[in-house]
Amino acid sequence: MLENKVAIITGGTRGIGLEIVRTFLQNKARVILFGSREESVHKAILLLKKEGFAVDGYFPNLNKIEEIEQVVQEIFSKYRSIDILVNNAGISASKKIEDTTSLEFESIMNLNVNAIFNMCKAVVPFMKENHGGVILNTSSMVSIYGQPSGVGYPASKFAVNGLTKSLARELASFGIRVNAVAPGIINTDMVSCLPKEVIDPLVKTIPLGRIGEPKDIANAFLFLASDLASYITGEILSVDGAARS
Ligand code: NAD
Repeated sequence: MLENKVAIITGGTRGIGLEIVRTFLQNKARVILFGSREESVHKAILLLKKEGFAVDGYFPNLNKIEEIEQVVQEIFSKYRSIDILVNNAGISASKKIEDTTSLEFESIMNLNVNAIFNMCKAVVPFMKENHGGVILNTSSMVSIYGQPSGVGYPASKFAVNGLTKSLARELASFGIRVNAVAPGIINTDMVSCLPKEVIDPLVKTIPLGRIGEPKDIANAFLFLASDLASYITGEILSVDGAARS
């Protein structure tokens, strides 16, 4: 479905991002994964190599626009195109407001929002030059209803939705589609570190009766990245088993 498309995927070293990388590779895309640390990037590349895939990896600081621009230029020089950008890197929060420092709030915004802005800013000129592209963001079901504790996380994901809808309108005439996937509760490190007493009651609220798997989310990204979604832009696609927390 993505033959010869060049895709950059942030937060591609584990969890949902790694599954998006794998799914895009299975669909013949040429993938460049980003991670936060050199060792986690190498670990992911090695794992994928064992599975028979070749993939490049980088670990720029997503809050430093100059670093990102340099890496994106390098990727464009090597691949001659950047067709798909998946902004997936993200961190969550669950502490009550009294226990959250302003620095912690800021660091969530820095990665979940500012980094997406930086990545889009660096990649959009190349997509415009190529007369098209696809930008996909990872939102969350909490971007619709908020959550009872950990205000920075839903606040950041509401911002992701705003960024998605606005950029979709700004970039449509350049043939660039911008969408987001809003996962429900997905079986990754981000969720396995939550206490059982938080997870169990949440699962009971999911009409499909289970938490989601990374593959459930990766398949939605695959669809939105592909030409099957060529008339879809500015959309926030919920993939959450109808969970409404
Ligand atoms: P994860 O913790 O397993 O993976 C997070 C990824 O982000 C990793 O690849 C990591 O390298 C990257 N990352 C973390 N900090 C970084 C930093 N400072 N700089 C660059 N990269 C950094 O998480 P996940 O569950 O796979 O989540 C991926 C995305 O899905 C996030 O945006 C998250 O908000 C969203 N999401 C997850 C769930 C869930 O239930 N797991 C639900 C809704 C939305």
